[in-house]
Amino acid sequence: MTIIIFGPPGCGKGTQSILIAEKYNLKHISTGDLLRKEIEDETEFGKTVKSYIAEGKLVPDEVIIGMLMNAFEKNADQHYGIILDGFPRTTAQAEALEINLTARSKKTNILLDLQVETNELLNRLLYRGANSGRVDDNLETIKKRLQVYEEKTLPVKDFYKKLQKYAAIEGMGEIDEIFTSICNAIDAAI
Ligand code: ADP
Repeated sequence: MTIIIFGPPGCGKGTQSILIAEKYNLKHISTGDLLRKEIEDETEFGKTVKSYIAEGKLVPDEVIIGMLMNAFEKNADQHYGIILDGFPRTTAQAEALEINLTARSKKTNILLDLQVETNELLNRLLYRGANSGRVDDNLETIKKRLQVYEEKTLPVKDFYKKLQKYAAIEGMGEIDEIFTSICNAIDAAI
């Protein structure tokens, strides 16, 4: 089973992914978390990607696709499948993902599009920035990330709509209510 959680920065992808991973016994792969770990560990890879993240830009496709394929290899068989959080973020990433899954006789079951109003996103990210210390949760970088989302990431929706693997989820409201909608969409897609 392969589930994609999708939506703008601050829409709640991380929070919902943890709940989904637990309920459906999926491996949670967050590209943002993987990148931050590399930076924290001061690896060569971390040094390469650091400035992109701090500036709110996307890490180049070939770099992120390579990282994701490595993550796929690691202890994948202990789980029933994966929940992808933060990937794909461009159409090229979506194409690479589907080609890779097909080669393993797998496929994406559904892309869950968490929909949240822009004002609410700004509030959540500014609040998170004050508490998490994430270098990219400041007003200037948040605006840049939202712009990158509109320009580069939004087309990924159409890619999965065409494949009829798309579900819109109301992302405003209580965490458990949103999770219930997500579970309904997943159950209908598996
Ligand atoms: P958010 O969803 O709040 O923007 P993430 O933790 O998912 O945060 O990502 C943080 C940053 O990591 C992004 O702004 C980007 O620089 C980089 N990143 C994460 N995933 C990808 C990806 N699939 N492609 C390119 N860059 C990525």
